[in-house]
Amino acid sequence: MSLIVDVFICRQDNYGYLAHDPATGRTAAIDAPDAGAVTAALERRGWSLTDIFITHHHADHTEGIADLVAAHGATVTGPRAEADKIAGLDTPVSPGDTVSLGSARFAVIGTPGHTLGHIAYYDAENQVLFTGDALFSLGCGRMFEGTPEPMWAGLMALRALPDETLVYCGHEYTLANARFALSVDPGNATLVARAAEAQTQRDEDRFTIPARLGTEKQANPFLRADSPEMARAMKLEGADPAAVFGALRKAKDNFS
Ligand SMILES: [Zn+2]
Repeated sequence: MSLIVDVFICRQDNYGYLAHDPATGRTAAIDAPDAGAVTAALERRGWSLTDIFITHHHADHTEGIADLVAAHGATVTGPRAEADKIAGLDTPVSPGDTVSLGSARFAVIGTPGHTLGHIAYYDAENQVLFTGDALFSLGCGRMFEGTPEPMWAGLMALRALPDETLVYCGHEYTLANARFALSVDPGNATLVARAAEAQTQRDEDRFTIPARLGTEKQANPFLRADSPEMARAMKLEGADPAAVFGALRKAKDNFS
């Protein structure tokens, strides 16, 4: 239990993260939304960047890579399946691989659907999960690439992790996600409580992240596509959970 995570907002609503292993001094930026914001966080902490862990190819997660590498000489790790879309990738990894940051170990988990090659990074010892745009608090990423089945399978792999796991996701979308979640699951007491907590956090200008995975399992509709409540909300009782998930995702796309 030694990894330190620094959290900051950059661009509009992207989360930037630094993961720091005190034993070795190794420090990773999780995604590279904004080189200036990452560098400011490094200076604030007095840490030196050694690594960049990329979750997926979108520009708001990769645009800072070139400037960060030029300034710090960091090693860039990211999804092998998107290697042709991520300039400067040094170490391509696939689901099932392990990535080291000094004494910390991250399992690479496949979370396709927002993009086909999207990966999450999970440190079991420190109970830290970086989900990029695959899983948000009370929501999930828009399904830009692929079909509901593999996206639902990836979210189930995240759901299988321990309740105590802290979820660090790619965007501050929690309040907007809460509005949709409450529209499909209004009787869910855990959701009502989490939505109220997030409102207080934002009112006080605090982050809603990290989220506790145990709470997400109970409150996030996209982790509950196999529940009777979500099937009923989508008028898909008895249907395959992946179909319920796909319907939820489509309903969220059209929700305002
Ligand atoms: Zn994205």
